[in-house]
Amino acid sequence: MQFYILTLFPEMILSGLRTSIIGKAAEKGIVGIEAVNIRDFTKDRHQKVDDYPYGGGAGMVMQAQPIYDAWLSLADRIGRRPRTIYLTPQGPAFTQSMAKKLAKEEELVFLCGHYEGVDERVLEEIVTDYVSIGDYVLTGGELPAMVMIDAVSRMVPGVLTNEASGSFESFEGNLLEYPQYSRPAEWNGKKVPDILLSGAHEKVEEWRREQSILRTKKYRPDLLKRADLTIKEKTVYGVYDGE
Ligand code: SAM
Repeated sequence: MQFYILTLFPEMILSGLRTSIIGKAAEKGIVGIEAVNIRDFTKDRHQKVDDYPYGGGAGMVMQAQPIYDAWLSLADRIGRRPRTIYLTPQGPAFTQSMAKKLAKEEELVFLCGHYEGVDERVLEEIVTDYVSIGDYVLTGGELPAMVMIDAVSRMVPGVLTNEASGSFESFEGNLLEYPQYSRPAEWNGKKVPDILLSGAHEKVEEWRREQSILRTKKYRPDLLKRADLTIKEKTVYGVYDGE
């Protein structure tokens, strides 16, 4: 899978994604990450890419022309109009299920805004999806693009060495993951739950399922209402579908 990021700060993207699991996947060629510098496409002789907003107001707005030309150069290379995501606090919030669906694309283009945002006309021209990473305002779209690329890459086959570790995680079936423990069996006076040392696989799975439900009930009751629970589980854990 190939990720293209249209940005004014390519070094930020590359330094953020060059390490750890995503960096290794890129080294192996399982995912490709290319940051395209929008400034390289400006026709302004002073290399400007932003200007004052029409109608007045604070800050600067990223101009349409350099973004459009940078995007066109990508579309030409790819050979079609690529799925293009504009990172914006105004979009619907990014979720794990979105990450899973996006991981099926051959390529994705991310447009990172900066300053007060981007000229609306170029957004109308190139953007297919508007996505936010949460209800807060950041200085630029680079961190949101990195967040999305990390989450989407993990869903690309071959990126996680243990395939299973991507499938039994938080948000699967709208549940949070159960607590995890590793060696030693006792640390700081705290013992690992006996059941996990028993070797009884079925019992372990039952315990994990119960813990997942209890955790979700405690920390994300909103999720639990949408969780895939049996009628028995709903009764035992007091989950009601209504408001
Ligand atoms: N003036 C814009 C508004 O009120 O909607 C915010 C602009 S913000 C300072 C600059 C850029 O950061 C945006 O164009 C967007 O690309 C990115 N950004 C900021 N917060 C974001 C969020 N929560 N999710 C995704 N992108 C965000």
